[in-house]
Amino acid sequence: MFSKILIANRGEIAVRIIKTCRRMGIKTVVVYSEADADSMAVEMADETVFIGPAPASESYLVADKIVAAVRETGAEAVHPGFGFLSENASFARRLAAEGITFIGPNPHAIEAMGDKIESKKFAVKAGISVVPGHVGEIDDTAHAVRISEEIGYPVMLKASAGGGGKGIRVAWNRQDVEEGFPAVRSEAKSSFGDDRIFIEKFIESPRHIEIQVLGDKHGNVVHLFERECSIQRRNQKVIEEAPSPLLDEATRKAMGDQAVALARAVQYDSAGTVEFVAGQDRSFFFLEMNTRLQVEHPVTELITGVDLVEQMIRSAYGERMSFGQQDLKINGWAMESRIYAEDPYRGFLPSIGRLVRYSPPQEGDVGDGVIVRNDAGVREGDEISMFYDPMISKLSTWAPTREGAIDAMGRALEDFHIEGLGQNIPFLAAVMDQARFRSGKLSTNYIKDEFPEGFQGLPPTDAQRDLMSGVALAMQRALLARAAPDQTRSAWVVVAGALHQTMSVTAVDGGLTILTGDRKLRLEDIQWRPGQAVFRANLDGRDFTVAVKPAAEGFVIRHRATTLRVMVLSPRSAELHQMLPPKKAADTSKMVLSPMPGLVVSIDVAQGQSVRTGEVVAVLEAMKMQNILRAERDGVVKVVSVKSGDSVAADEVLVEFA
Ligand code: ADP
Ligand code: ADP
Ligand code: MG
Repeated sequence: MFSKILIANRGEIAVRIIKTCRRMGIKTVVVYSEADADSMAVEMADETVFIGPAPASESYLVADKIVAAVRETGAEAVHPGFGFLSENASFARRLAAEGITFIGPNPHAIEAMGDKIESKKFAVKAGISVVPGHVGEIDDTAHAVRISEEIGYPVMLKASAGGGGKGIRVAWNRQDVEEGFPAVRSEAKSSFGDDRIFIEKFIESPRHIEIQVLGDKHGNVVHLFERECSIQRRNQKVIEEAPSPLLDEATRKAMGDQAVALARAVQYDSAGTVEFVAGQDRSFFFLEMNTRLQVEHPVTELITGVDLVEQMIRSAYGERMSFGQQDLKINGWAMESRIYAEDPYRGFLPSIGRLVRYSPPQEGDVGDGVIVRNDAGVREGDEISMFYDPMISKLSTWAPTREGAIDAMGRALEDFHIEGLGQNIPFLAAVMDQARFRSGKLSTNYIKDEFPEGFQGLPPTDAQRDLMSGVALAMQRALLARAAPDQTRSAWVVVAGALHQTMSVTAVDGGLTILTGDRKLRLEDIQWRPGQAVFRANLDGRDFTVAVKPAAEGFVIRHRATTLRVMVLSPRSAELHQMLPPKKAADTSKMVLSPMPGLVVSIDVAQGQSVRTGEVVAVLEAMKMQNILRAERDGVVKVVSVKSGDSVAADEVLVEFA
């Protein structure tokens, strides 16, 4: 076996690879950029090599620097993780020429499958059903319009070299193509350094189901069943699970067989993924093959017990696979949530910054047959930088049943506490609590269907209102006990949202007994001290965790997807409180605000100009994506506050209407 491996990646995937290497007794080398000098991966690796400035194009993507780092440390092989150089055939060839092993498929397979246009051509030849469309490159906007009209709207414009949901646009009509083609092309150029675009039919409301394949250098190929990744936002996966609630045994076998046939056709010799879109009727079409380890591989590992990184290392070393298809079985159910640094309450805008608090749930066997796994590459105090992927961690749960895995995810998300930047945990918790998700009726439109106005959290259920009222009472008691220990009061008015309730609280047997109307709540095992942001306890026999913040005359409490301002008032101040007029928010309806920090690419209006609803006002680039900002009403431009090339903060006024 190899004695030393270099990991040409960063973040959670570098950490994940180090863990397997340690278990296998292999030494690790991690390369790092300026932005990652103090990272967890750097701390965990046996050796590290500095490779330059933060932008990936000057560090992680520079093959020369990776090769030099291999030479310097005497590593025998390179694991590329995902992203960066993982699907770069010339990098794999270069390593081979230098006598270094690439831990991934052979370059021929990367070339044949790594490019969407090429892989579609290949799949057509191999007799695999592909999404209808034009299997070739588009020259210009006029060509794009012609092809789109041949295929019939809606169509999807896709960067051939694309990945991670970037470089994709849906076009519903000619205007969308005319606007979208240049945008997608420039996005492809800036994200992937390759501006080839192709067009295929857009399949409405499909499901995304993919097959994990694994091959060795002796001609053995197996599949490790499917993952369903239909919960997506902007074509980027958010929640994944294995197996898929859609598939029956026959479809599973048919998809598995096609995936294995495709893999065999390119002599696939590592871990890879064959992606399909599937109809609700279980019809399926090949989408692309990802010739690398996939972000969501943990769910497959959890249901099969196979360590995919270990298998990649073994097959790269030339070992023969020690199991065959008949040895693989699906065991139980696994869910994965991608915890992103994005603010779900503000249109999921990227929200980079420091992890002022980072406290993940307990991992491993947590009881009731549940396993929790958190793949992360950050610690409290670390920064999620603007230079790389905004993923904070991947939280996975396993249980014998789908329902069990969903419940476990809900609980694990409750116990995940992050502060300092926007994060999508409340959103993920909302999905876990939705009846439609629990019923398994998924589609890639799920988020659009269920949150048409964006995400504002979920309204409290009666049980949640009780829970939060109980928490507020307990906190109020603890604060009072500290401030005025001889004052005791048992009768309070609790204002939770719009509801006023009279509640009485008494300490009994180390817990609190709360009476309201004819109901009795019992709060026990309270773990909270004034100043703490997380409150843990047990309500009527069930453990829970909420996030708490002090606010005027009370608290802001979040349980899962529900946030509520809860005030605990004496009966007299409750009366006074009801007489106060509600506050009004500032009027920003006449302004176009920057929705996120970014760079102004263009300002498309001038002072005094009349603008109609829907017209482009400005283009903003952030996180490698171009965002078109449009007028939300007709009007005349009064002030233009920025110019192209300016860096702007979130909520900065760009343009003001009269
Ligand atoms: P796909 O959407 O094609 O199935 P994934 O969602 O697994 O792919 O990953 C999306 C793309 O973004 C991949 O090409 C992967 O290389 C890259 N990527 C995703 N997350 C990260 C990350 N945390 N660090 C580096 N690259 C990433
Ligand atoms: P990426 O390399 O970014 O993962 P994919 O081709 O896999 O690109 O597409 C990403 C996602 O976009 C898919 O998971 C699927 O949800 C959606 N998608 C892609 N192609 C189509 C299509 N033709 N019709 C409908 N949805 C599609
Ligand atoms: Mg994909």
